[in-house]
Amino acid sequence: MQEKLQLLKELQGLDLELINIRESRKEIEKEQALLNADLERIQSMVSSLVSEIEGLQTERRELGRALDQEQDNVEKAEGRLPSIKTQKEYVAVLKEVDTAKKLNKEIEDRILAKDSEIEVLERDREEKQQELADLMARVESRQAEISGALGGFDKTLDEKAVQRESLLQGLATQLRKRYQLLLDRRNGIAVVEARNGACLGCNMHLPPQLFNSLYTATEVLTCPHCNRLLYIENGQ
Ligand SMILES: [Zn+2]
Repeated sequence: MQEKLQLLKELQGLDLELINIRESRKEIEKEQALLNADLERIQSMVSSLVSEIEGLQTERRELGRALDQEQDNVEKAEGRLPSIKTQKEYVAVLKEVDTAKKLNKEIEDRILAKDSEIEVLERDREEKQQELADLMARVESRQAEISGALGGFDKTLDEKAVQRESLLQGLATQLRKRYQLLLDRRNGIAVVEARNGACLGCNMHLPPQLFNSLYTATEVLTCPHCNRLLYIENGQ
């Protein structure tokens, strides 16, 4: 009987270790996912800045071409002036030149505005690229640690699973099933100590007769409140 309880206690201890290891493993996987999400976030910020800058540069080139065209028009119109015969035509061409020059000024202003817009975004992009490079360096070194830790956890989990299997083999099928069921339903705690007349699993008082029979029982007894398997420490 004591042997059976000893085995159950060992199994319970092992299962608690397994639960803790799985929990730690999950935490570190969560950290890994967060790091990757951070990387993706900054990467997508950089690429949207890049495409925004490209769009502005295309507009900037179009404005440049429009300016060239208008300057051409001004030169052509001014070139015509010396050969003009009538006052009326002269005035008309001057007006044409004036309009074209105004338009040029407008285009130049738009080019300047576009250039400063591009400059701001370029600075933004450089900043974000630096941030990305820093984060990548950090993620890379942390990633190596994470991989190492995950590998370690998996190795330990495998080893403990083998130990667990061999402990389970020592239990009768019925008891093994009860243990597993309780483990699943009672938050990973299936085997608990009874002390001072109470179950330490649910902290409820045990009927005195049940508590007393824990000293002499030949079968594993269970708490009537939480159904957990009970043991009593020797010398109590
Ligand atoms: Zn209980």
